[in-house]
Amino acid sequence: MKILFIHAHYDDYEFTAAGTFELWKRRLGKAIRAKVIVCTDGQAGHQFRTREETGRIRLAEQLASARIGGYEFDRLLLPNGAVPREGCLDTTPGLLAALWKAIRDFEPDYLFCPPLPSDPLAGIHLDHVAVAEAVRKVAYLINVPHAFTPEYSAEETTSTPCNVPAIIHVYDPYLAGGNPHDFAVDVEPAFDQMCEMAFCHQSQIMEWVPWVGRHQMKAPTSVADWQQTMRERFRRVSRAAGVNSDRALEIFTVTAWGEVPAFERLLNDVPNILPQASNLERLRQKLARWHAPNEP
Ligand SMILES: [Zn+2]
Repeated sequence: MKILFIHAHYDDYEFTAAGTFELWKRRLGKAIRAKVIVCTDGQAGHQFRTREETGRIRLAEQLASARIGGYEFDRLLLPNGAVPREGCLDTTPGLLAALWKAIRDFEPDYLFCPPLPSDPLAGIHLDHVAVAEAVRKVAYLINVPHAFTPEYSAEETTSTPCNVPAIIHVYDPYLAGGNPHDFAVDVEPAFDQMCEMAFCHQSQIMEWVPWVGRHQMKAPTSVADWQQTMRERFRRVSRAAGVNSDRALEIFTVTAWGEVPAFERLLNDVPNILPQASNLERLRQKLARWHAPNEP
């Protein structure tokens, strides 16, 4: 089993899927590989550090989180070797090529990425939407072997098929609950570790996020204080998703961008799905519809 998380920024992982990945790893042990890819250089979000220093610190913070979480980590590199600039991400051929290469190299069974907003009135973070759009656009090309051989040269007369993953959306706080979710994972057993991982992002939670004033966050004074902040954050996510639960939940929506997973396989593979906080019957019908032969 291979699971891949692709998102725009350092710290997006910890707030949307780290608990699910952790539980998946606990269940499968050595039989699973988990990887996180961040698509921007992290240089933009700060109010008193230089861009260069901010990018350097953000990378170190993510690597510290990866050591605690035991997941593989890569920055996305464009075909020219550059890391895309934060705050400017766009679905250029270079970004599509880089994603194509990264996904094909890892060949995940499940790919987690940000959603596209279903409501055009919803606010967005442009980098989140760019990653979502780019993953959607590149999904069909994952098993097209020559799609980006101009950027990544390969022997064009012999090609092996590439497994196309099921592609699943994580929650995006910028959309304020505008996208309905399919299932919720009860990540309470991993809550302490999730807090520890998120706490690695000191330049964000102590400096940037309180300054920019999002998420009603105050700078935490201790790890225990931070756990309280995380707890409140998860409550807000649950409420926004219409779920009444005090347990930490991560919520997800299945797409038909890649392979459409069978309902039973999905329920077997993903750990700790909480049925009473999920919309499983609606998901079952949606997957059945996508699996049905096309009507004229
Ligand atoms: Zn982000």
